[in-house]
Order: sequence, then structure tokens, then C-alpha cells
Amino acid sequence: MIPFVSATIDSGALRHNLAAVRARAPGARVMAVIKANAYGHGLVTVARALDAADSFAVARVDEGLGLRAAGITKPVVLLEGVFEPDQLEAAAVHGFELVVHVDAQLELLRAAPAGSQFVTWLKLDTGMNRLGFTAAAFAAAHSALSALPCVRQPVRLMTHFANADTQDEPTTALQLERFRRCVGSLPGERSLANSAALLTNPSSHGDWVRPGLLLYGVSPLPGSLGSELGLQPVMTLQSRIIALRDVAAGERVGYGGRWTAQRPTRLAIAAVGYGDGYPRSLPSGTPVLVGGQVAPLAGRVSMDMFAIDVTDLGVAPQLGTPVVLWGAGLPVERIAALAGTIPYELLCGISQRVAVASR
Ligand SMILES: *Cc1c(COP(=O)(O)O)cnc(C)c1O
Repeated sequence: MIPFVSATIDSGALRHNLAAVRARAPGARVMAVIKANAYGHGLVTVARALDAADSFAVARVDEGLGLRAAGITKPVVLLEGVFEPDQLEAAAVHGFELVVHVDAQLELLRAAPAGSQFVTWLKLDTGMNRLGFTAAAFAAAHSALSALPCVRQPVRLMTHFANADTQDEPTTALQLERFRRCVGSLPGERSLANSAALLTNPSSHGDWVRPGLLLYGVSPLPGSLGSELGLQPVMTLQSRIIALRDVAAGERVGYGGRWTAQRPTRLAIAAVGYGDGYPRSLPSGTPVLVGGQVAPLAGRVSMDMFAIDVTDLGVAPQLGTPVVLWGAGLPVERIAALAGTIPYELLCGISQRVAVASR
């Protein structure tokens, strides 16, 4: 049975994008960020395809456990660290590397089971004001962490950028400067750059870069496309046509009648909607690919379907004709902009009922 909505994951594109990342950050190792089900692409599928990465980063313990359960033995970094003794024990058993960003995590490590050893990443808040020790608290946190017998020496050092996607923003340079000043000549590997900084600020590459979005073939920079950066889209979201109808000029389409036919119109109904993660905020006119031809969305996206004006298509669609919502041939960056959001949200927002399959 062909699923109504499927996300096809191109493993070759993942490998290509990893190689492209390495070419842009030749001096750094790559911590591949695969949190949030690998941005909707499938945690284990992506981890297997990115076997050439140096380590994986996830947000939470459960995600790390998912990797280990699938037999993946590569280093795994928990970007938010751990908060409970059972999480710490899981980290010890599975060798997860821990980000340490708050005093409570130092306390937890102080009570670590005897004999356990952790690679730790001490996080400095350089201006994101989300996670990390302030510059004033950093030195004390560093000494405290370094003094713990369960902590492998030397402690590693990290920070995160708030505005690396905006080239003319001075904040990244300022954050980088604060990081350098604060960590000084401390020993230990350094990691600062997300996808955007990896592209816009080579001096931030450090020992480990932390790309997420780039690996999925998508540009983190507003107004640019992954293809312009030499990347290949990994996810193609598609559905198919489940109804066709002809309506007279003046007929209105969909909930609220938000779109009115200006002429006798042929409509095709695609079996995908916001219940699959195709946003309701998309306006009429948003492009979709119907059997490979560009056609505009007409009216509101509903939960399970929406209408497309296919009047002008050279090859008339049939029941079952595939419809691409984003991916190969239709950049998710463009669709995200039309939805008033960022590609991250669309990719990791595909819902449970979308069948994810790799090739
Ligand atoms: C999610 C995340 C990344 C990856 O961000 P991209 O913009 O997808 O490259 C890197 N570092 C941290 C701390 C993150 O939370």
C-alpha cells in the first residue's frame, strides 16, 4: 500500500552534505546534530547514514538511548546534559558526553557512582542567555568540575551563538571574543559553531563544529538556499492527488472560502494537511509540484488535504499523481518563508502519520 504522505530520506545526500561540511571546516571534527528525531528525518536512519561523523549530538537522554538501542556506538553528546541520578547512570552506562551548564549538574556529578567517568563540555553563556555559566561564574565552575574524580581531564569548552545567521550582526564576533577572553589558555577541546557560524565565521570553527541544518541540505541563512551552498536536500515530503474537480468562475474553495476561482478552474485535491505538518499558515499561491510541474495552492490548508489550481498544467494530473510539498525540486527554505517560519520548524514538525522511508 502506498502511504498517503511520505517523507523520503536521501542517505546519499546526507553523506554528500557531511563531506561538504568537512570541506568548509577542514580543521575541525564534526559533531553531527541529530536531536528532535534528526530534524524529523529519523534518528537512527540518519545516524547510520552519517557513520563518517566524529560524534553525534542530541538534546536529551532518551535520544541517546535510542541510538544505543540501535547498536550505534559512536560518541554521543547530550546538549542539555542530565538532571536526575538515573539519567546520570544511563550516561555512565552508555558513555554519553555531558554538557554542564548549571550548578545543579555539578552537584549531580559530585554524587556520581564510584568508578564512573564522563567526558564533559562546560558551557559558557556568551550572550545567548539561555544555557551556560556566566563569565563571572565560569572559572569557579571550571575548577569545581575539573576537581571531580568522575570527570575526564581536561574538561572541554563550549558556547552557542545567537545570531550567526545574520552576517551584518556584530554579536557573533562579540560572543567569540567573550569566549576567547573567558576560556583563555585553559586546556581542552573547544566547540562553538552551529551551521550558520560554520558558514559565516571560520574563526569560530575551533576543534569541533556542531552542524545540524546543513547536514539536511538546508541553508540556515535567510534568503539563501542549500543548493547555493553546494548541498543536497535530504527530505522530500510528498503526497498524491485523491480527487479532481472542475469549478465555475466565482466558486470559492476550502474552509472560509478564502480563495475564489477567477475563471473556470480545474482543482486537484492533495491528501496532506496540517495534521501531517504541512502548515495551515501557507497562503494561496504557495508552490507545490504536481507530477513534477509547479502549481499554486488554492484556499486554506485543512487537516488532511488542500486544493491546488492545476488549470494551467501541461500534463493533466490524475488520481494518484504525486505531489511534492518540499524537498528535491522545491526548497523547504522557500516554503518556510511563505509560512512565516524557518525550515527547522517545518522539518521537525512532520507528524507521526507521515511514513518516513530512506533510500
Ligand atoms: C541544535 C544545536 C546545534 C545545531 O544547530 P544548527 O543551526 O541546526 O546547525 C548546535 N549546537 C547546539 C547547542 C544546538 O542546540
